[in-house]
Amino acid sequence: MHINMKPNAVPICYDLHSHSTCSDGTLSPAKLVERAADQGVNVLALTDHDTTEGLEEAGEVARRVGLTLVPGVEISASWQGRVIHVVGLHIDPVNRALQAGLKLLRQRRTERGREIGIRLENAGIKGAFEGASRFVGGSILSRTHFARYLVASGYVADISKAFRKYLGRNKPGHVVCEWVELEQCVDWILGAGGQAVIAHPARYPVGSGVMRTFLHEFRQHGGEAIEVVTGSQKPQDRERFARFANEFGLFASSGSDFHGPEYPWRELGRLETLPAACEPIWHSWPATDERGCASGMV
Ligand code: AMP
Ligand code: MN
Ligand code: MN
Ligand code: MN
Repeated sequence: MHINMKPNAVPICYDLHSHSTCSDGTLSPAKLVERAADQGVNVLALTDHDTTEGLEEAGEVARRVGLTLVPGVEISASWQGRVIHVVGLHIDPVNRALQAGLKLLRQRRTERGREIGIRLENAGIKGAFEGASRFVGGSILSRTHFARYLVASGYVADISKAFRKYLGRNKPGHVVCEWVELEQCVDWILGAGGQAVIAHPARYPVGSGVMRTFLHEFRQHGGEAIEVVTGSQKPQDRERFARFANEFGLFASSGSDFHGPEYPWRELGRLETLPAACEPIWHSWPATDERGCASGMV
């Protein structure tokens, strides 16, 4: 849990990365916000994959339970042929260019889903596209929905095996997909008045040299922050990305990447503290700092 002691000693717990049933989480936006409040989170960002449709419901419940909701999104992007996730915080959800872009990504997800269905069919798994679609709770089709179908149909014992055996890189159901280029992705976020944050950097299989090139380009495009603390990362990752954040003048963010209570190792608000050398992204939010855990959206 990140506790930020304000001068008046009110601790603020931030969780700036989470998912609902509008993408591949298992709690509705309302239940997610209620759970976050129960876990002691004061400031929560809902960051569903390639959709903002849960923000309205989440905002209503946030006002009711006295939690500050940061409107967010997690965008699937491509950089040098690699898949990179970029979180947008404080985006304006009605921004037209952003919404047009997200719609395009959702269409790509559906096209990719059909192709995944065909590949799985060739691997002896019937009806995967329709099966996965039955697990969709919003407007995006994710590999997670395929994983849930594979578990429910008894092909694998759990979600992680579904990725290891069928859906991960170079597995029978894996389909390479062109998402939005990094620069365009950051443009959408900035154009919607938001801040671009590199999600879970430890999950990208690149060495320090490539990581530096990536961070340099991200910064040049107007990206502002990187997740220094995320759910399920190794202890050394926090220090490594804190150093990168400082080297590239990026703010540090902190978020669980919560997907549901079925994944107990990634609970809302249960995050390590940011290293003292980091500049937390919320230091760039004057309204939040003044209002602390005021209710409603900031
Ligand atoms: P997609 O964006 O549709 O390609 O799906 C990516 C999502 O799948 C991520 O956001 C995770 O929620 C989930 N995911 C990826 N790899 C794994 C894994 N090895 N185990 C469980 N979930 C995973
Ligand atoms: Mn996900
Ligand atoms: Mn992600
Ligand atoms: Mn995520």
